[in-house]
Amino acid sequence: MPDLTKYIDLIKNGDVVAFPTETVYGLGADAWNPAAIQKIFTIKNRPSDNPLIVHVSSKDQVRDFSEKIPDSADLLITEFWPGPLSLVLQKKSKVLDAVTAGLDTVAIRMPDHEIALEFISKTGPLVAPSANRSGRPSPTRAEHVKADFGDHFPVIDGKATKVGLESTVLDLTGDQPEILRPGSISRKEIEDVLGFSVHESFFEHMDRPKSPGQKYSHYKPEAEVRWLKAKEVPDNQEYLYLLLDSSYPVSPNIIAYDNDLDQMARELYDRFRQADIEGYHSVIIEDFSEMNHPLVSALLNRVRKAIGYSSNTPNV
Ligand code: AMP
Ligand code: MG
Repeated sequence: MPDLTKYIDLIKNGDVVAFPTETVYGLGADAWNPAAIQKIFTIKNRPSDNPLIVHVSSKDQVRDFSEKIPDSADLLITEFWPGPLSLVLQKKSKVLDAVTAGLDTVAIRMPDHEIALEFISKTGPLVAPSANRSGRPSPTRAEHVKADFGDHFPVIDGKATKVGLESTVLDLTGDQPEILRPGSISRKEIEDVLGFSVHESFFEHMDRPKSPGQKYSHYKPEAEVRWLKAKEVPDNQEYLYLLLDSSYPVSPNIIAYDNDLDQMARELYDRFRQADIEGYHSVIIEDFSEMNHPLVSALLNRVRKAIGYSSNTPNV
C-alpha cells in the first residue's frame, strides 16, 4: 500500500487526485465540494452535461446520496459490491448539480480495489470519472494518466487495473432496471440476482441517451479502428492486429489473445495508446461478437465507439 497521506491532504484541500480502481484509473474530487468538482471538468475538458459517478468505501455512505433505495439495489449491492457496478438512484436534494449534471438521479459504486477503498475511507466519497482527457482512451496504468495530464500530476500508482473497462451502469429509477452502459458485470449476472429481466438501452437513441456519457465518442485512439475482414491476412506492418486466433506467426504487431476476452479487455485501451505512440495507421480487431462470454457486450460497446459508430450499426 503506497503512502496516501499527501493525496488525502490534496483532496481535503479541494484538489483532484488520480487513483486506481479495478476498472480504470479515476480522477477523484470530494463529492461535496463544487469547486473541486469543477476542476475535474476543466482538467478533463469534460462536457458539463456528462454526470459523474460517486465512489464510496462503505455501503452506508449510499444513504447520504439517496433515500429511495429500492430492494433491487440492496440485492445487487450485497452481491456485487465492492465491484464494477454503478447504480443510478434517485438523488437527495442536497447532492450537487455538478455531480449529476442537473439530473434528479445519481450514480454510485464501491470500487473493488484495496487502495481506492483505503483512500476513500480517509477522504469521504469521491466523484471520479476516468482520469483521461475527454475523448482519449481511459487510463489503465498510472503512466497513461501522466501521459494525458503531465509528469507532475498527482496519481496514486496501483499498477495495471484488473478489468480494464469502465463499470456497468444500471438505472434503478424506472419501472424496469435498465443497463445504460455495459461493463464487466453482465446483464445475465444481474438478471440472475434479481430474478427478472433487465433492459439494455445503450445503443438506442445515441444522440439523446439516458446516460449522457454514451453519446460522446470516448475510447478513441488517433489510429483508425476497424474489424478484421473475412479472409483478411494480418500481414500489414502498419497495422496493429488484436486477434482471437493464435495460429499466426508471432510478431510485434500481432497480438493474439487465444480467445481470452478478459485479457483483451484488460489491454484494449493500452493497445490503443500503444498504436498511437508507435505510429500505427490502424488497429484491426478480430470480431468476437459471436463468442459466449460475459464481456462481449462491454467490449463490443467500446470497440464500436472507437470505430466511430454513432448508433447500433451491425458489425461491418
Ligand atoms: P465515466 O466516469 O467517465 O466513466 O462516465 C460515467 C458514466 O456514467 C457516463 O456515461 C455518465 O453518463 C453515466 N452516469 C453518471 N451519472 C449518471 C446518472 N445520474 N444517470 C445516468 N447516467 C449517469
Ligand atoms: Mg470516461
